[in-house]
Amino acid sequence: MLLKTDPRNRAWIEIDPKSIEQNARIIRNLLAEDCLLMAVVKADGYGHGAETVARAALLGGAHNLGVATLQEGLDLRAVGIDCPILVLGNLIQVEELRACLGCDLMPTISSYKEALLCQKIAEDADQYFEIHLKVDTGMTRLGCDFEESFDVIKSILTLTNLKLKGIYSHLALADGDINGESAFITEKQKQRFEELLTTLPSNGKDFCRHLANSAGAIRDPGLHFDMVRVGLALYGYNPISHLHKDLGLSPALSVKARVTLLREVPAGVGVSYGHQFTTNRKSRLAVVAIGYADGVSRALSGRISVLFNEMRLPQVGSITMDQLVIDVTNYPEIEVGSIVTLLGKDGNTVISPQEWSGLIGSIPWEVLCGFKNRLPRLIA
Ligand SMILES: *Cc1c(COP(=O)(O)O)cnc(C)c1O
Repeated sequence: MLLKTDPRNRAWIEIDPKSIEQNARIIRNLLAEDCLLMAVVKADGYGHGAETVARAALLGGAHNLGVATLQEGLDLRAVGIDCPILVLGNLIQVEELRACLGCDLMPTISSYKEALLCQKIAEDADQYFEIHLKVDTGMTRLGCDFEESFDVIKSILTLTNLKLKGIYSHLALADGDINGESAFITEKQKQRFEELLTTLPSNGKDFCRHLANSAGAIRDPGLHFDMVRVGLALYGYNPISHLHKDLGLSPALSVKARVTLLREVPAGVGVSYGHQFTTNRKSRLAVVAIGYADGVSRALSGRISVLFNEMRLPQVGSITMDQLVIDVTNYPEIEVGSIVTLLGKDGNTVISPQEWSGLIGSIPWEVLCGFKNRLPRLIA
């Protein structure tokens, strides 16, 4: 017999698809009428569940989806999502590209050599293969060399079974300051992209031209071109909140866990591995059933709070694999079974992934992708 526990017994993630839908709508409203919104749902929708996010984003006005891997694209096709999907990562195996063609997924290619491979696959299948070409304008990761891109495009256009649907590039510093180096590099990338496009008939408007991620889309309409590829903002976080007015984005994810034990301890007691924390008074401590094996980084030990009735309760001592301890001396309302919020909204109070990432020298993207399979995901 298969036994299944109630996901709300211990620790879990709650996802609110209405927030995703509304965030998509807010982002859409930043765009010109004919500019498309790609919802980036890679890494299982930044930990929110790719299918849930995809459906909500499409309802909110997204036109297509971006994934990182072939499998992510195939999984979306398998659940019946039939909008255009672009694979943002590079595929190197013939079988992978064949699967793309077979399932109507568009690969990203970074070289003429890859284009030739796609041409061969399409020719053998007697089909047309829709692809996007990525050009490196300054990120120095995927994409063909900017200097070579002019010729690469010309050569690709001679390949009869390929349909070059899009030409794109990726910004390296768009989430930095609006002045200084980040502005300089971002502008330089934009200029290179435009320089390439001007060599094409009618500035390349036969192709879908795209450059901006969330930060690019929010910081400058001049970076929008024909489409923006938005991840973080869709999930409710403004990557350049330090520069801009509130866009009204709302976080779609919260992480909650139960108190499973209460302890009364005297002053001077060491708490958890390494005794990193010692009580300085008679204390009431609560054990919460979530730990670093669920994605609450151990580096956050003693630095975070959890929310309960919109109050912040301090976490104390080392975060362990499966539990952490909070000091509830001042909060008699906490009892065994109480639900605390580690991340996300509790009424009008919020703990954001930016707050966590700022404490440990990480970034909100990594915090969101860090939640593990052990945490069940519930859809609100
Ligand atoms: C992940 C990714 C995005 C989305 O980035 P956000 O900063 O989350 O908006 C856009 N484009 C590419 C190529 C990506 O890999």
